[in-house]
This record gives sequence, structure tokens and C-alpha cells, in this order.
Amino acid sequence: MVELKNDAELAVMREAGRVVATALAAVREHAAPGVSLLELDAVAAEMISRAGATSSFLNYHPHFAPTPFPGVICTSVNDVIVHGIPDDYRLRTGDLVSIDCGACLDGFHGDSAISFTIGPPTEADATLIGDTAAALAAGVAAATPGARLGDVSHAVGEVGRAAGYGIPQGFGGHGVGRRMHEDPSVPNEGRPGRGLPLRPGLVIAIEPMFMAGGRDRFVTGPDGWALRTADGSRAAHAEHTVAVTEAGPVVLTAP
Ligand code: MG
Ligand code: MG
Repeated sequence: MVELKNDAELAVMREAGRVVATALAAVREHAAPGVSLLELDAVAAEMISRAGATSSFLNYHPHFAPTPFPGVICTSVNDVIVHGIPDDYRLRTGDLVSIDCGACLDGFHGDSAISFTIGPPTEADATLIGDTAAALAAGVAAATPGARLGDVSHAVGEVGRAAGYGIPQGFGGHGVGRRMHEDPSVPNEGRPGRGLPLRPGLVIAIEPMFMAGGRDRFVTGPDGWALRTADGSRAAHAEHTVAVTEAGPVVLTAP
């Protein structure tokens, strides 16, 4: 069931989104050669706790995973697409890092992800990260009242396909609210003009994830969480929680 949020609820969700944005900025600031993924997790945990919020990810246990998620952030490095569990891996210059973070404040969740490199990016990484951000921006721009969910999915997928990237099937965006994952599902490809009509009060996470190698195949790691590209190519992920309003889309997880 799709739940629409009223203005008071959207105001609370904006504050939850701000907590996520602040945590992501702190993690990015802290990420450097020699820093471990567990240290980044601790940075996010501290920021979320300091804001009086709780982690949406810690102990989250969806149907596809064998164990509850043990971290506060997902840390997905190089060929890991999404859902990387923070461990003692220490970052190296040239790594492409995707960080996904969720926080719950006053009963409402925010969910957002960023991708960046440790040190200056190669041209290929800069393009992949830039195209993923452009797909997110296109998806956000399509989230207007009167449009349909397929318009958002189409906008995201078109950017990825035009650039020749692979798109993992079965993973994508979702409704956000009192639960981190609500209806509707927001696939990263779709047909324009189809699907749920977008009404003011609808809140969705839009989250393109693209694989540089161009194929759609991915594999699940031995921990049952991390998704990796099957061809070993790099992947990038970007995500915002977005409200559809009378005035147009509003990014709730903007800094
Ligand atoms: Mg997320
Ligand atoms: Mg999400």
C-alpha cells in the first residue's frame, strides 16, 4: 500500500534526511588512504547518534539476506555495486567507494547514497560517477505531480543505457516513510507514461546503480549481502529520498 505523507510528516522527513546528509558528508570527509571501512561506519554511527536519530540499516533483515545487516552504512568498494558490509579493509588511493546511509528520526526514515574516489578519479571513474549522479538528477526531475512512476524509472535507465552501463535487475528505489522500504518499488528502468500516478505526498528513494562493464550480470558475495559485478568492472551508486509536492520534487536528503 502506498502511503502519502502530509506536510507535517514531510517536515519531519526533511530533518531525518538532513541527518543522513550530514552523516554522509562526515564519512566522505573521513575517507582517505589507510582508513578502514569499520572506521567509516563508526563515523556515521556517531553522527546519527549525535543527531538523536537511529540507524535504519543496523540489524535490518530483508527477505533476501541470510543475516541482519551488521553496519550503520553500506560500504561498496570498486566492483561491489551495493550492500557492502563494513569490514577491516583499508582504503587505497584509486578506490571507487559507494556509501549508503539511512537514519530514522521521530519515526521517519531518510535514505541516501554517494559515490566518490579516494584521491583523484581516473577519467573512467569520473564519468561513471558523473553519469550515475546525472541519472539520479533526471529521476528526481521526473518526480512531478501528474507524472507516473514509469517516467522516473525511464529517466534513470535512459541515462545509464545511453552511456552503455549495465543495470542490476531486481534492485532499485522504493517508497520511504515510517519504514525504510515501503511501496512502491522504483525500478531503475521503465516505460514512460506507465505505472503509479505520482501524487503530492508520495515519498520515494531514487537510486541508480550502474556497472561500467555494460553487462547486467551480478553475483552475490559469500556474506549474502554484497552484490558484485560479474565481470569485475566497477560500479557506482547514488540515492536521494525525494518528496513529490504541488511545487515539484523536493530532495529530502539534500545537505
Ligand atoms: Mg540507501
Ligand atoms: Mg534505498
